Amino acid sequence: MASSINVDMAILGGGIAGTCLGWYLNRKGAKVALIDNQWEENSSRLPAAIVNPVSIQQPNAAWQAEASYNELLSLINSIQTDHPSIQTDHPFFHQTGIIRPALDDTLFANFCETLKSSEWPDGWFSWLDQQELIESLPQSRNKYGGINLRKGGWINLPEFMESIYIKIRELDIPIVQAENYRIEKSRNSVQIFTNEDHSICCNYLIFATGAHLKRSPLWSILPMHKVKGQSALFKTARPVNFKQPVMALGHIIPQDSHLLYAGGTYEHAYQDVRPDEHGTKKLHTLIKTLLPGISDHIALKDQWAEISLITPNNLPFLGSHPRQQEYYVIAGFGAKGAITTPYAANILANHLIHGEPISDELNTERYWQKLRKLGKI
Ligand SMILES: Cc1cc2nc3c(=O)[nH]c(=O)nc-3n(C[C@H](O)[C@H](O)[C@H](O)COP(=O)(O)OP(=O)(O)OC[C@H]3O[C@@H](n4cnc5c(N)ncnc54)[C@H](O)[C@@H]3O)c2cc1C
Repeated sequence: MASSINVDMAILGGGIAGTCLGWYLNRKGAKVALIDNQWEENSSRLPAAIVNPVSIQQPNAAWQAEASYNELLSLINSIQTDHPSIQTDHPFFHQTGIIRPALDDTLFANFCETLKSSEWPDGWFSWLDQQELIESLPQSRNKYGGINLRKGGWINLPEFMESIYIKIRELDIPIVQAENYRIEKSRNSVQIFTNEDHSICCNYLIFATGAHLKRSPLWSILPMHKVKGQSALFKTARPVNFKQPVMALGHIIPQDSHLLYAGGTYEHAYQDVRPDEHGTKKLHTLIKTLLPGISDHIALKDQWAEISLITPNNLPFLGSHPRQQEYYVIAGFGAKGAITTPYAANILANHLIHGEPISDELNTERYWQKLRKLGKI
């Protein structure tokens, strides 16, 4: 049935970034619609994601770790409160903390050195000596100890996405599923016409299309690098006797008494976006390295491959197109989508609705300035 929707803002892409943005825009008073094409490369549909407040290279707090973490907790609280359709006795965020073991002499020395001067919020982490680490992770056989991050944990992404969609429907945000559509811009508005005879008219169109953004002629100039990541579920013969996700060279998240989820192959060169044997081997080796006591007799149950977008400063791009101010983007969350998207989506929503500035480290302007200097735009 043909329909015509008039909104202030339409969002292309219903992954974590698009749905969080839709939520914040709606809560701040905007009329919003969400358009998703059910693209198969959608990293928000993976079974689990680490909520990881640690920076990528060093055991330091990641960018805006505390603010991002608090925003995520507040969003989860809003989604789960007072909504009988969402099970609150079975939370999708497991606040288990995270263990980051030191794996060799060099890493141990690096951890000790960095932690002396790192700035963590009070009470966020403690050092586990070898004995303590073995108590938390009996199957690790670790000789060095490691960090116990008390904040963070992991999210069951399918449950999180399902809950946020329930909430978005309750807020009467139209969700249009369309595999194909065309976008037309007139002087004062943007119109999206889908093949199913829907039309959406908006003042701003925001692209939250994940890795698909690289295919968009509007945004392909943004310096974002595609990285293939594979993850897998393994059935274990021995019981999984730890509760916290383990992070080093990738991540391992306990799922139930005989099930482990392992992720993060980070492939910069690849032929196609399909799970493959190379990925299975790499993830198996990860489990062997981090948890030798469980890695015998594990069987692959399922495997996924998706693409992440990495930006030069490892922070997302938020902001408008340099020439077409009706078009905005929110993308480039790398391996930090779970912890960073609510915080970033809130910043973009405040900008779009209240005109609040987006900081230089996030703003698309950080790149447009460079291109302008080079005379490229
Ligand atoms: C193997 C792997 C493991 C990861 N593990 C973690 C982790 O442990 N912790 C963590 O924080 N992050 C992790 N990440 C990263 C995290 O999953 C992403 O940062 C996050 O999902 C990005 O969300 P997004 O909404 O920007 O993009 P996506 O999740 O890709 O969503 C994009 C959405 O846009 C839709 N779409 C695409 N093109 C169009 C179009 N043209 N029109 C309309 N809709 C469109 C898609 O259908 C999809 O719904 C991992 C990534 C990978 C690949």
